[in-house]
This record gives sequence, C-alpha cells and structure tokens, in this order.
Amino acid sequence: MPERLVQSEEHRRSVLRALLWITLVAGMVFAVINFSRGLYVLAGLEVAYALFAGGLLTIIGTTRHLWRWTVAYLVPFFCIMEYALVLPNTSFTVFAWIQTIPIISYLLLGRRGGFWMSLVFIGLGVLAFNVRYLSGDTALLQMVVVANIGFSSLAMMVFSHIYERSRVDNELRLIELAGTDSLTGLANRMRLADEFGRMRSQVERSDQALSLVVLDLDWFKRLNDRFGHEVGDRALKHTAKLLAARLRESDLACRIGGEEFALLLPGATLSQAAELADGLRGQLAQAPLLVGEEEVLITFSAGVAALGEDGADLSALLRTADRRMYEAKHSGRDQVVAAGQRYPLGAELAGTAVTERLAAADKAAPPEG
Ligand code: GH3
Ligand code: MG
Ligand code: MG
Repeated sequence: MPERLVQSEEHRRSVLRALLWITLVAGMVFAVINFSRGLYVLAGLEVAYALFAGGLLTIIGTTRHLWRWTVAYLVPFFCIMEYALVLPNTSFTVFAWIQTIPIISYLLLGRRGGFWMSLVFIGLGVLAFNVRYLSGDTALLQMVVVANIGFSSLAMMVFSHIYERSRVDNELRLIELAGTDSLTGLANRMRLADEFGRMRSQVERSDQALSLVVLDLDWFKRLNDRFGHEVGDRALKHTAKLLAARLRESDLACRIGGEEFALLLPGATLSQAAELADGLRGQLAQAPLLVGEEEVLITFSAGVAALGEDGADLSALLRTADRRMYEAKHSGRDQVVAAGQRYPLGAELAGTAVTERLAAADKAAPPEG
C-alpha cells in the first residue's frame, strides 16, 4: 500500500479508537439513564451498541478493512441517534448531537464518504425535528429552531469538508517533498524504496524484468575543486535533467547521494538496462556543461543489477549494482558494468580518452589552496 494511504489510515485508526472509547462509556451511561426513564428499547440498543464498540476496539488496531468497519460502526451509531430524535420522550437536547455528524464522518471517512454520510444523516435529523415539533401554534417559533439546527450543522459540514480537503492536500505535498531531492528535483532514496516495492509487485504480476542502475559521476571532486561548489551543483542538475529527459515515464531516476544516482527500469533486462545506461553515458559525454567559455565534460561510471538473478530486494540489488559501479571505476571510469560485461562493448579501455582529457584540464588549472 502506498505510504500516503498508510498514513491516512493511521490517522483514522486513532480517531476511531477515541470515538469507540467514548461510545463505550457514553453508551453505558445513557443506557442506565434511559432504562430508569422507561425507554427500554433505546436502553437495550445503547447497551448492544456499547458492546459492539468494545468488540471493535479489539480489532481496529490490526484490521485491513478499516473503512468497512468504520461504516459498520457509523451507520448504526447515526441510526440510533436519529431514533432517539424521533422518540417523543427523549430530551430536546439530543438534537445537539446532529452537529457531531459531519465532524465524525469527515474525520473517519474522508471527503467523499464524509460528504454523503453527513448529507444523509443531517437531512434525516432535520426531518426528525420536523416530525416531532413542527406542528400546532408554535410552528413558526419551531421553524426558527429548525433553521438554527439546519444551518449550524451545514456550517459544520462545510468547515469539516474544507479542513479535510486541506489536510489531504498538505499531506500529499509533504509526502511529495519528503520523497524529492531538493537540488535536482529527482526522487530521493526514500521514494526509491517506495517505488521499488510498487514496481516489484507490478513486474511480478506481469512476469516482466526489473533492473537497477547505480551511477556515480567521475572525478567530481576535481570538478568542485576547479570550478567551485556552485558549478558542481550545476553539473548535478545538468546530469539530473538529462537522465529525467531520456527515461521513459514508467522509469524512475533518483539522486541517492552526493554525486550518485540510481535508475529503476521496469521491463528492462540486465543487458537492456546496461545498454540504456551506456546510451545515457554517451549522451552526457556529448552534452558538456558550459562554464563561462569553457565546455566541461561530465562522465559517469555505472553498475547494473537485475531483480531475480542479482537479488530479490532493493538492498541486494543496490549492493550488487554498487559493486559493479566500483568495478567500472577501477577499469578506467566512463563505462557501465553488468555481470562481467563492460559497456561500451568492444572498447578495450573505455574511459581513457575522457580520463586523459580531464586529467589534462586538471593540470592546466590546478585547484587553489
Ligand atoms: P570518482 O570518480 O572515484 O567517483 O571520484 P569523485 O571525485 O567523483 O569521488 P569522491 O567521492 O572523491 O568525491 C565526491 C565529491 O562530491 C565530494 C563532494 O565534495 C562532492 N559533493 C557531494 N555532494 C555534493 C553536492 O551536493 N554538491 C556539490 N557541488 N558537490 C558535492
Ligand atoms: Mg564520483
Ligand atoms: Mg561517489
């Protein structure tokens, strides 16, 4: 289940738990009061409902059907409330409870469920008031009371709706921010873990491959030392932009460390992912970063791992891809390694030309300090 839904569910579980305790205690108290007033059916319903709330308390911490249990709890809760409203000898003040309908409904069921639940039961509550009081000489006076109850409940419903909408929007925004790398705008390590879980179940269902590429920029410290941290940041953004632009919508590009990136490629086998990474390597080498008049070459070394043959979870794939990425570094940089295979295929010492150019540039302008 996506992280955002898990968080919403936890929030609702807490609200429901609090409400169940209130129901359990209040149900028993009202049952005693109503029994002593001779309202036996109502008292019986209240005892049964309090016991139902007690039973629910034992399962809501673990149930996977929170929404269903919430509806199963709320519908009888509101029905008993409405039944109490129409009984001739219950107190007039029972109508105050109508105002809790939208708050409870929105908190527990969210925007859509909250809207329909509130609309139905506030409507029934106002109707119950009409049945009970809106007749005889005092009809006009009672009309004012109906208007008060109706409009104040409507106000509660509107406030609850606005509150729930902004709560969900803020929650989504926070989740988005928490999963985003602020420098490059790519996904970060946290989102990589989330998305890996989602993609793994998807590819397992459709019997597809899933590959992971870990890539690390070459000689990045030199670049920082020569041109400054700001240019280093620009190089990271430049790389991120190229990765994001060249990948498919279903792929995911992440920045997982300082100058380290990861690509999650559903549908790509190990060799397809390695070829894709090698293509990106070539494209990046063809798109140097402009620093003043100078063209600064950026290259990377990458390692590839595939789900199944290299492991069944993200940490195993990261470990293997990382190990292969270091193999690429030790073999001269500016290349991709996948299970003993080096890309570009056929190049004996890939990366040498680039490495030499970088080293020459480095000599021409040694770092200060
Ligand atoms: P190699 O080819 O072996 O990967 O060498 P390297 O110089 O890229 O690797 P090293 O790990 O020695 O240096 C990484 C550098 O990346 C060190 C650090 O200053 C820089 N760095 C890490 N995060 C950032 C960042 O957010 N912005 C900038 N500008 N530099 C960063
Ligand atoms: Mg590096
Ligand atoms: Mg590094």
